[in-house]
Amino acid sequence: MYRDRRRNFDYDPNGGPASGTLHADHSRISRAEAIRRGIPVPPPDRLLHGQCNAERGDGNHDHKAPALDTTTQHLAMAWP
Ligand SMILES: [Zn+2]
Repeated sequence: MYRDRRRNFDYDPNGGPASGTLHADHSRISRAEAIRRGIPVPPPDRLLHGQCNAERGDGNHDHKAPALDTTTQHLAMAWP
């Protein structure tokens, strides 16, 4: 991930001023869930690519993240 949005994989030169920018993400509890529970929305605690954040949504798709999918993971080399 790069601060220079033009270096991020999701940058599109025709995609507008936000294309390729990093997003601040709430990894522990989503904004939507905090609002649903009526508790203060905590500050964001990590950065994500804009595309990754959009695909993550409110966290309901986290189990589909390629890094967490152990059923189809093909390792290029032995790994403990
Ligand atoms: Zn990403």
